[in-house]
Amino acid sequence: MKHPIEQSYMDFPILRDNRDYTYLDNAATTQKPDVVLKALQDYYTQCNANVYRAIYRWGEESTRRYEAAREKTAAFINAESPDQLIFTSGTTDSINLAAATLCRHLIKEGDEIILTEMEHHSNLVPWQIQAEYAGAVLKFIPVSESGELDLAALEGLWSPRTRILALTHMSNVLGTINPVKEITARAHSRGVTVLVDAAQSVPHMKVDVQDLGCDLLAFSGHKMYGPTGIGALYGKKELLEALPPFRGGGEMIRTVYLDHSEWNTLPHKFEAGTPNIAGAIGLGAAVDYLNSYGMKAIEQREARLTEKLIAGLDSLPEYKLFGRAENRGGIAAFSREGSHSHDLTEYLDGRGLALRAGHHCAHPLGRKLNALSTCRASVSFYNTEEEIEKLITALLQAGEHIL
Ligand code: PLP
Repeated sequence: MKHPIEQSYMDFPILRDNRDYTYLDNAATTQKPDVVLKALQDYYTQCNANVYRAIYRWGEESTRRYEAAREKTAAFINAESPDQLIFTSGTTDSINLAAATLCRHLIKEGDEIILTEMEHHSNLVPWQIQAEYAGAVLKFIPVSESGELDLAALEGLWSPRTRILALTHMSNVLGTINPVKEITARAHSRGVTVLVDAAQSVPHMKVDVQDLGCDLLAFSGHKMYGPTGIGALYGKKELLEALPPFRGGGEMIRTVYLDHSEWNTLPHKFEAGTPNIAGAIGLGAAVDYLNSYGMKAIEQREARLTEKLIAGLDSLPEYKLFGRAENRGGIAAFSREGSHSHDLTEYLDGRGLALRAGHHCAHPLGRKLNALSTCRASVSFYNTEEEIEKLITALLQAGEHIL
C-alpha cells in the first residue's frame, strides 16, 4: 500500500524498521521500496530465464518483463522510443560507453571536448582516457563563486574544433541545477554533440530528453530507488545508429563470421552478453513507484525539505555552505570551522544521522573550492522535516563533542 508522500518512508522496509536512524546520503544511493524488492523476488521465483534466447514460457515472460521495464524507463524521461534506451550498469558505465564510441566516431587529433569544473569523476575520467587515445583537447567551463557555471566564459571556449560538450545536470556537491536546455541549444548551433550526466536529476525532477534536446543522457537505477548495477544511456536515434558498438559478445550481433561481424539493431547493439535482467525489472518497478507519487509532488516535497536544510545551515555561524545557486536540488555540502569532515560525520552517525564525508568524487571541484573534504547532506522525499531539524540540532551541539 502506498502512503501519503509525507509518510512515504513507510514504503521502505529499512526506513520504517529504523525510525531512530536518519538517512541523508541519498545522492550516493537511495533506499528501496517494497515494490522494487517484490519485483526482484517475483522475477527470480516466477520466471528466471535468460532473455531473447529461450523459446519457452519462462524465457518469454522474462523477456516480456525486461522489455516492459525498458518501455517504462524510456517513457519516464520522455524518450521518443524504447529502442533509444540502452540498459547499462549505471551512469559510469553509460558515460564510458558514450565517451569511447563518440570519440571513435567524431574525434580527430586536435579536436576539442568541453566539460565543466564541477563534474563527478565519472564524467571526467572517461573523457580523459578517450581524449588521450584520440588526441583530443579537453576544455572546462569554470564554476563561479556561487557554484554556477560561468556561461559568459563558455563563449570563449568554443572553436571550430569543438565536437562534444558533456556536463552534469545537477552537481552532486553543490546541488546546482545547470541550464542544460540553453547550453544544448548553444552547442547545437555550432554542431556540437551534447551528453548530459543526469545521475542526480532523474531521481528528483521531471527530466524530459526531448525538451532538453540533448543527444545523450546517462543515469543510474540505484539513485532512483531501483537496484544497484542497473542504469541507462538514452541517445538520439540517428546518433546511436551511427556510433560503433562498445562491447562485443552475444546478442549485440546480427551475423558473425570468422573475420568480421554485423551488428544487431538498437538497443541490442549496445547490450552485449546477458544483461542485468532482474535489475532492469527492479528499475521498471522503481519508475512505477516514482510515477505513483508523480515527479511534480516529489520535486515540491524535496524543495521544501531543502529550503529547511539550507535555512538551518545558514543559522549556524560556524558552518560554511558550498554552493549558492538559485536553481538547486536537495544537496548541501558544508564544513565546520576547525573540524575534519570525517570527525563530524562520525559524530553525526553517533547521533543517528547518516551523512557523506569526503571529496564526493569531484577532486577538481574540491580544489577549486579550497575544500577537498566536506560533509554532505542530500535529501529524498522520504525524509521528514523532523529529520532535518534533528540534523541542525546535532550540528549545533557538535562543538560540545568534537573540536
Ligand atoms: N555523476 C554524478 C553527478 C553522480 O553523482 C554520480 C554518483 O554519485 C555518478 C555520476 C556516478 O554514478 P554511478 O556510481 O551510479 O555510476
